[in-house]
Formats: sequence, C-alpha cells, structure tokens
Amino acid sequence: MTALCRATVDTLALNHNLRRIRKLSDGAKVLAVIKANAYGHGLVPVAKALCDADALAVARIEEAVALRAAGVGQRLVLLEGVFNRNQLELAAANACDLVVHSHEQLELLESFGRNSRFTVWLKIDTGMNRLGFRPEEFSAVLARLRSLHAVREELVLMTHLANADVLSSDGTRNQLALFEKTTRGVEAERSIANSAGLLSWPESRAQWVRPGLALFGVSPIAGKTGEELGLKPVMRLGTELIAIRKVAAGESVGYGSAWSASRDCRIGVAAIGYGDGYPRHLGNGTPVLLGDSRIPLVGRVSMDMITVDLTDHPEARVGDSLTLWGAGLPVEELAQLAGTIPYEMLCGVTQRVAVQYLK
Ligand SMILES: *Cc1c(COP(=O)(O)O)cnc(C)c1O
Repeated sequence: MTALCRATVDTLALNHNLRRIRKLSDGAKVLAVIKANAYGHGLVPVAKALCDADALAVARIEEAVALRAAGVGQRLVLLEGVFNRNQLELAAANACDLVVHSHEQLELLESFGRNSRFTVWLKIDTGMNRLGFRPEEFSAVLARLRSLHAVREELVLMTHLANADVLSSDGTRNQLALFEKTTRGVEAERSIANSAGLLSWPESRAQWVRPGLALFGVSPIAGKTGEELGLKPVMRLGTELIAIRKVAAGESVGYGSAWSASRDCRIGVAAIGYGDGYPRHLGNGTPVLLGDSRIPLVGRVSMDMITVDLTDHPEARVGDSLTLWGAGLPVEELAQLAGTIPYEMLCGVTQRVAVQYLK
C-alpha cells in the first residue's frame, strides 16, 4: 500500500471482541451494530469478518442494500425501520428485519399488500424520548402488528437506554423497570442493551444484546478503556513523518503561531490532519506514538499535516511511522482530549484515509 496515512483494521481483534461480548452477555444472541460505515471501520469488510454474529444491524436502508449487494447473507435489522413505500419494498427485496417505532410505520405495513413477510422489532420508548411507542400504546400496537399478514409471528420487543454509560443512573433502573412492566407476560424475545448496557447492567442483557462500540474494542464508559474491559482496539490510525526541521528557541510553528519553542527543537511533520478526521481541536501536548514512546503534538492541526516535537528522539527519521490512536494510545483518551466521544472520532475518519484489513 502506497498511502502514508492509513487505518489498519484488525479483524482478529474484532472477532476477539465478539467472543468477549458473548462471554460477558451470558449466552445472549449478538446483534452486531455496524451502522455508519461500521463506526468508520468499513461496512462490508466488517460485516464479512463478523460472520459469527447472530445478526447485523444498520441504521438505514442504503446500508442494508450495500451489504446485500456485496453478498452478505446474514440476518439484517434496520434499526430505524423504513420511512416510505419505496424503502419498504427495498427492505422486502433485501430480506431485512424492521424496527417499527411509529404509527406511520405501522400504517405503512398495514397498507403493504405484497406477499413478503417481515420480522418486526417493536420499539418501545421507556425514557429516551427519541424513537418508539409510548408504554400505554404498547398493547394496542402489538395487537395490530399481530393481526398483519406481513408481520411474522416471532416479534422482538426492544427499547433503547439513554444513560447506560452512567453507572449511578436512576434513569437506567427506571427504563428497565418500565420495559419489564410494559411487556410483562408477552411471549417474545427482548432486546435492550447497547455496549454500555451489556457491560454495566447485567439485567439489561435479555435475549439479544446490541453492541456497536464494544465490538471495535472501545469503551463507552468514561474513565475506562476497552483494554481494561478485556477488549482489543480494532483500528490503528497511523501515518509517517514526511519532514523534520530544526526550530530555534523562541520560534513558533504552524498556523496562528499557536506554539513556540522554549528550547532549540527538532520538529517532525506528519501526513495527517483534520482532512483525514484527526480532530483540529486536539491541542499542544496531545500524545502521538513514535514506536512505543509518546511524543507531543505541537502547533495547530492543519488539513493535511500535524507537527510533533522530536527533540527527545534524535533517532527519528523521515519515513518513521506514527500512531495517532490504536493499541497503546486508546481512542478513548484522544476523544476526551478533543472534547468528544470515541464514536465521533471513529466515524470521522474520512474517505481519503486508506484502510488496510489484517486477517
Ligand atoms: C447504535 C445503536 C446501538 C449500539 O450502540 P453502542 O453504544 O455503539 O453499543 C444499539 N442499539 C441501537 C438502537 C442503536 O442505535
């Protein structure tokens, strides 16, 4: 591969994480969530690597169509369902399970005359207040779904947790109790837990867990890294030094002269910037890995380049590799420094970054 700036995606780590999640989830089935280009790791290659997952989930019909076009035959769930007749027909043609969360979607299914049948994941809103039927509507909606020819008998009942990453949260306890009360006595599989749920709230595991972030080896819980949870980071974002220069004490580096040398320095320039998804918010002192050593970012992140202080590493040469995040430098730590969450960092890796898959 000729590209200097690359994301290396370790599919062995991905499968390690899937096994680890199975173990933590007490035998629950795993709906592997691979929306948003598999959290930046590449939709189709990740789907193919996750052939042991019980089912795959995406947010949008276009993602499902792309998976089917690439020959992915696994059970596939549309987490937001469909929003018009066209999408419903595409979902039928591509054998997708549907989340049904609104009256509009219910009516769409009621008016669907074709012979296709769908497995429905009925979404109940227990406090997130984004998608889902209100608990008091549940019985009536369930009865309507069960009367439809287009809906298979074996439904899954689901809800989504708003605060699963907050261990002290009453919100999660309340959501779990409301879901239990609402669905009590109904014979159907249930699905509640995202990554934070399955890691922190055993009572949320039910028959199906829905991990996204944890599959990629990353922790959704603040102050804990994936590695501390027995997960392995799947992505390494790396690049190379493309120039090295001397900067005298008192001279500044980069746009806005945002950093000045307090001693005579050796500054490395590396081929990565916000045009690749390395956040511009990362400031002076952000760690970058040169081999196993942490070296500090200095000056502003620009579109195609960053600058690092190599003064304490006289052995560093043009062409040496740098790691921006990955094993040894958790994306969780970088996200914190950038004032965001690891989800956004991973999804934010841009098209220009070459992706290499390790098998
Ligand atoms: C994205 C998503 C998930 C996965 O969430 P993670 O925090 O990445 O594990 C699970 N369920 C639903 C409904 C989602 O939209």
